[in-house]
Amino acid sequence: MHDPNCLFCRIAKGEIPSRKVYEDEEVFAFHDIHPGAPVHFLMIPKKHVASLAQVSAEDAPLLGRMLALAPKLALEQGCNPYPEGGYRVVVNTGTEGGQEVHHLHLHVMGGPRPWLKG
Ligand code: ADP
Repeated sequence: MHDPNCLFCRIAKGEIPSRKVYEDEEVFAFHDIHPGAPVHFLMIPKKHVASLAQVSAEDAPLLGRMLALAPKLALEQGCNPYPEGGYRVVVNTGTEGGQEVHHLHLHVMGGPRPWLKG
């Protein structure tokens, strides 16, 4: 459930400081320390799941809730509304997928261009 050696488990517990965006019983969201966009925050399950590759059927409702919450938090954090505005929701998975922190997280990135290429 909680991995004491995991950076994001420790952030979710408040053991390591972060700039919190949102929290409930199952989900924690905080600003990325190296933002790649005007708005860039991460959403994580509080329970330790290493990556999208480790997700099980029982995690599906939680993941669905996180995805459904992302638009609300994105607007609250200053992203402009769909369709002219918007944001990216990205889940890097595994080494070849660019994942560096092995606790499942959604990157939510948006704000006025030109941060986004392609
Ligand atoms: P990548 O670094 O390639 O985006 P990940 O998808 O694993 O790899 O993303 C990890 C993210 O966590 C990075 O965007 C990084 O800036 C962010 N990060 C690392 N340490 C912290 C921290 N202490 N607080 C907030 N964000 C962090």
